[in-house]
Amino acid sequence: MYIVPEALIADLVSREASFEAVEQVFAAMASKDAYNFPVVREAIGHEDALYGFKGGFDRVGGSLGLKAGGYWPHNLEKRGLINHQSTVFLFDPDTGKVHAMVGGNLLTALRTAAASSVSIKHLARADAKVMGMVGAGHQATFQLRAALEQRSFEKVIGWNYHPEMLPNIEKVANEAGVPFEAVDLPGMQEADVIISITSAFAPSLMADHVSPGTHLACMGTDTKGKQEVEAALLARAKVFTDEVAQSVSIGEAQHAVASGLIAQSDVVEIGAVINGTHPGRTSDDDITLFDGTGVGLQDLAVASRVVALAIERGVAIEVEF
Ligand code: NAD
Repeated sequence: MYIVPEALIADLVSREASFEAVEQVFAAMASKDAYNFPVVREAIGHEDALYGFKGGFDRVGGSLGLKAGGYWPHNLEKRGLINHQSTVFLFDPDTGKVHAMVGGNLLTALRTAAASSVSIKHLARADAKVMGMVGAGHQATFQLRAALEQRSFEKVIGWNYHPEMLPNIEKVANEAGVPFEAVDLPGMQEADVIISITSAFAPSLMADHVSPGTHLACMGTDTKGKQEVEAALLARAKVFTDEVAQSVSIGEAQHAVASGLIAQSDVVEIGAVINGTHPGRTSDDDITLFDGTGVGLQDLAVASRVVALAIERGVAIEVEF
């Protein structure tokens, strides 16, 4: 088997490769060539940690395996380690033999950013000029950097619950050569594309903060109870997701479905748009909303590319197993 340690990942995987891997696997999910296994997530009663597994099989991409890991809230203060910890395990789909073990921390940020970028490519207006950010934490920087590659954005506007964090995303915008402006939430009406990536349990972005024609990627809500945008916004929008079952149970759509504003059948897998079996945006006035909940197949798709590259470049550690 091969081992690709976390420290090697940054040199091995590009935003472009992550994007291609995630776009391919979303397409395979919609054509039923790939499926995610039920997610396991447990409070283990030790170190206040949440631990779990996200796995799946992609028959087209050939990836079988799981991401194991979770959130250890005291890591940073007690041990100087980051709080999110994960590792990807890949298996040979022909034999069941373990193929690789891959550091999953940077991969998680790259595959999550790739998901919102895929949604922008397929759902945002071609003439989008103003990029809006709600959130300015760790993931937000990856999200913004990837999103700026999808359209000719002329300005980034940003709002964050903790305004002192806004320089994190201002730096990313400026490094990409795009000016940044902090706005209040109604100021988001200027945005053509909005990414929300926060850990909020109550909505910040309201339906009247969003103009017709906008594309939103709601990326922060990945657990029951979390919420970033007003449920009424989903009723105004055409709603897309990575996986419908997750969207309506742990994603942003959980609230709109529970309150009867939309039905589960209103939520469409983005893979259908990629495959051309759903038209996606049909008017410049449509509000499109991508509910990015994060699926195991995204991790496996990007990890598979990393392993192939690491073997090609001779940096994968090979062990008899
Ligand atoms: P972080 O701790 O670095 O940043 C948290 C962000 O949430 C900051 O912008 C903070 O200001 C904001 N925030 C905190 N409390 C808030 C509140 N009450 N109202 C509004 N905003 C608030 O976290 P991160 O690593 O950037 O992760 C952000 C979110 O993304 C988390 O909820 C995480 O679970 C989620 N996530 C989703 C996926 C996916 O695939 N969809 C993948 C990774 C992370």
